[in-house]
Amino acid sequence: MALSLFTRRPAVQDPTTWTPPGTIVVQRYRNIVGPAEGAIVLVYTADSDRRSGYFATACLGCTYRAASSDRLSRLTEKAAAHLANAHAASCRAMNCGVPAAPDDTEAAQMVRSRLWGLRPDCTTSLHYVHLTDFRADRVDLQRDDDFIKHAMVQLTQSEPHFLTSQPNSSGTGIRFLVQPHPPRN
Ligand SMILES: [Zn+2]
Repeated sequence: MALSLFTRRPAVQDPTTWTPPGTIVVQRYRNIVGPAEGAIVLVYTADSDRRSGYFATACLGCTYRAASSDRLSRLTEKAAAHLANAHAASCRAMNCGVPAAPDDTEAAQMVRSRLWGLRPDCTTSLHYVHLTDFRADRVDLQRDDDFIKHAMVQLTQSEPHFLTSQPNSSGTGIRFLVQPHPPRN
């Protein structure tokens, strides 16, 4: 029976060095519980966002995720670090390793949920999707940009009233557009 303790989590990843796929971790904090047992709080940005300056923070011990604040819709590294530090000073979660990764179906559903939340309401305008839009999801999603793009391509085929794509204005690649809700009569 003892063996099951080891087989439950076959590839143990160290949260003190773990980088969620598709991200760059720029700072790590250990929470108030202490240097050995406390949970890690990450400050990170998506690979593709480094220059755009969108940062987020997430606690690996609890459900705390932040990609914006009361005052800011976009976090700089400094603002994200401030939130991470404040969370680390109050969080009492134990270090429980790296959060479990969803399977591909669950991950695609997370992409869809995020897009759904971006869907403009009470307006006829579109939302142009940026990979930055997924910054708060990275720790739970654990997928790179290619997975997110692939999931979006599939949505343009399965739900064309919801998500469409068009060629990028630069001529390379495509961009995705979340369609507004249809007008209510
Ligand atoms: Zn926490």
